[in-house]
Amino acid sequence: MLPSLDNLSLLELQELAVSLGEPKFRGEQLYGAVLRGKEFSEITNLPKAFIEKVSEKYTAQSLTVHSVYTSRDKSQKYLFTLSDGNIIESVFMPHSYGDTVCVSTQCGCRMGCVFCASGEGGLVRSLTAGEIFGQVIQINRRSYSNFDGGVRNITNIVLMGSGEPLDNYDEVVRFVNLANEVKGLNISRRNISLSTVGIVPNIYRLADENVGVTLAISLHASDDNTRNTLIPMNKKYPIEDIIKAAKYFVEKTGRRVCFEYAMTGLENSSINSAKHLARLVKGFQTHVNLIPLNFVKEKDVKPASEQRINAFLETLTSLGVSATIRFSSGGDSNAACGQLRARFLTQSGEARKNTPTTQRERLNSKSDGSK
Ligand code: SAH
Repeated sequence: MLPSLDNLSLLELQELAVSLGEPKFRGEQLYGAVLRGKEFSEITNLPKAFIEKVSEKYTAQSLTVHSVYTSRDKSQKYLFTLSDGNIIESVFMPHSYGDTVCVSTQCGCRMGCVFCASGEGGLVRSLTAGEIFGQVIQINRRSYSNFDGGVRNITNIVLMGSGEPLDNYDEVVRFVNLANEVKGLNISRRNISLSTVGIVPNIYRLADENVGVTLAISLHASDDNTRNTLIPMNKKYPIEDIIKAAKYFVEKTGRRVCFEYAMTGLENSSINSAKHLARLVKGFQTHVNLIPLNFVKEKDVKPASEQRINAFLETLTSLGVSATIRFSSGGDSNAACGQLRARFLTQSGEARKNTPTTQRERLNSKSDGSK
């Protein structure tokens, strides 16, 4: 399997051009073409001999569009095929304040949260920075008819698709740098939101290494007993450690932390839990996003009623917590939070038939408990 050019920075592409006996600016031209999602056959402004030499060692793009589903709310779910045949998902969400792409950071996931479809079948593998960036490049290319006129259209990225970004730390940070390149898509670091289940040591790294992204933490419960039943990782990184790391992040970066809180019909949406949550998140810069749970058929965790969600919000607000209810896009195309990927793998007849063997084998091996 050849490496791909979307995994390389502008500087690295310039070095590549020079190493192949071409001037540096050829590397910059190549970079422009890669950012526009072009395959080698579509690149017409570079010498053929140069493109031939590059294509002996690299592919231009790390993924191709498999299919696109459009929701009533205009969000679009993309399925992509990776060069090893695995399939990943992303969601494009057009908004008045700027267009957002929700990207996957892993194929599958090993966190095993009980309400989330992304982990069905465990982790297949982590994605490279280029495979994460490629999702943005391909969606950018297809979303704007005037795309060739300029390179920047998508303004926001959320690392909230399949996978746990802090379980793929190095590639995710490399991806942030690729997306942030001033001569490239130039997406501001604070417009990149990273959502984590709470891998505590890597929250400290994010703060210390000045990665600059906006941090969201999937808390989903305000006491360890409840969180243990929803998020297996809580046994390793319990709530107290997560809150400590969040406080450190706020102190170090001066930026607030968002807590994601999926409202199940279970204990986590009780008034008692709301009071407990208020105690945890008060006193430092935070915001709580209440997410009405999207029902995932394979998981069978029931969502909280609207009334219960409103009562929870009122309790938080009355205790001085900054909180809102967040409705996720794409429910009718199975593109909403937590619904990604599993539907494709387990339900859709045509798509199921096309599921690459590598992934099917992994899914089948789930019964032995392997991740
Ligand atoms: N691994 C990262 C990113 C996962 S997806 C994390 O845990 O944060 C982004 C968000 O969707 C997380 O907050 C996740 O807990 C939430 N989510 C997963 N399944 C969901 C569901 N069925 N309904 C609503 N939110 C869900």
